[in-house]
Amino acid sequence: MYSERSTNTKHICECLSAKIIFIHESLLYRTIFAVNMYHFSRIILFVVACIAASDSAALVGDNNITKSTSMEESVDYTKVPFNEKPLYRPPLEEIVDVLRKRLPATFEHVEVSAEECPDLTQDPFNLTAPGLTGDAKLVELGGPPYLLPLVQRDKVYDLVALLRHLRREPALLVGAGAGPWPYVGVNCEGIVNLFVERGRVAQGTRVVTVQPEDAPKGSAGYLQRVLPPHETRSALLGNYLLSEGKPGKVIKVVAKKRIGQSNFITAIREALKEHYGDKVVGAGGAFVLRAGRVKHHVMPDFSATPLRTDAHVDAWLHYFDMRAPIVHVGTLVTGDLGLDLRVQHFHGFSEHGDGGHYHYDTTPQEAHYEGYFTLAASVVRVDQPAHTHSVGRD
Ligand SMILES: [Zn+2]
Repeated sequence: MYSERSTNTKHICECLSAKIIFIHESLLYRTIFAVNMYHFSRIILFVVACIAASDSAALVGDNNITKSTSMEESVDYTKVPFNEKPLYRPPLEEIVDVLRKRLPATFEHVEVSAEECPDLTQDPFNLTAPGLTGDAKLVELGGPPYLLPLVQRDKVYDLVALLRHLRREPALLVGAGAGPWPYVGVNCEGIVNLFVERGRVAQGTRVVTVQPEDAPKGSAGYLQRVLPPHETRSALLGNYLLSEGKPGKVIKVVAKKRIGQSNFITAIREALKEHYGDKVVGAGGAFVLRAGRVKHHVMPDFSATPLRTDAHVDAWLHYFDMRAPIVHVGTLVTGDLGLDLRVQHFHGFSEHGDGGHYHYDTTPQEAHYEGYFTLAASVVRVDQPAHTHSVGRD
């Protein structure tokens, strides 16, 4: 069991008012150990930006970050492997039947339909495009081996450059990844939600950090912030739905009162897996938890000691109960296709400041999910780690 409590806004404000002092101490510490003037100058720039940003950060939990200070280079997509494999795409009506039949093992109340997507730019979803359809594919970037056992800091990915490389525009990219640590200053969760059309970026991506950034497990809070349009990087790993963001028919799933062991996404994925077997089906989209609470994790800054087992990762992550309404974006796939895929990965964000990596609801009696999903025609594997492991996949 995890006893960490989410930090309320007042507590976040108190933490942030102490943040400038912490940053100054951090500066002194890092200065002593700086190995060259390049790193030193970057730390100075980061501190100036943090101090400038801390005034507004103290006012609200979900604020925009307004300064970019890092010149960290993004991965050159002409120099990393790309591999695309087709996914099986059954008719939506067939998927509806499969889920109607199998989800009642996990939820007492289940409604599944194939219908026109509601306008997802509206509350509570607040996506950057109205729909999920139009040449939909799954994109998996990097992977846990770039985070564990020790971070590989060169794995920074500019998502707009990726869309350019894939020649995709208009393009909606939504899903779960690691946020741009060179911009934020520390490792963070990324809840990607960006739309590119005619060269313009609509940015709804959030990042969530542990607060204070060096707080020990058990006494930390968290802070969700929106990235500005010019900061379009992520890092290390990511699972995204790529589409044109168009309105169109999607699968709607409403599930209430959980009676089984699986979480909402696992229940859907396992239902599809049981029915379709070796025919690998992939989907992506968004779901909102309308009532109840969910267990999330938020990654703290990178571990200085190697994280070699799931137990190490579990001890490193910070866990929190997050409050409804909370929206999640991500992907699921029923097989690996030999691409070392992460079979499901959803991150959540909210207007009230809660957000992180979705594990499961902690209030099964109250659980009320509403999700919209589109089937993907293929999965695009980008910069697949040459050496892999199974740690940190939950
Ligand atoms: Zn995650």
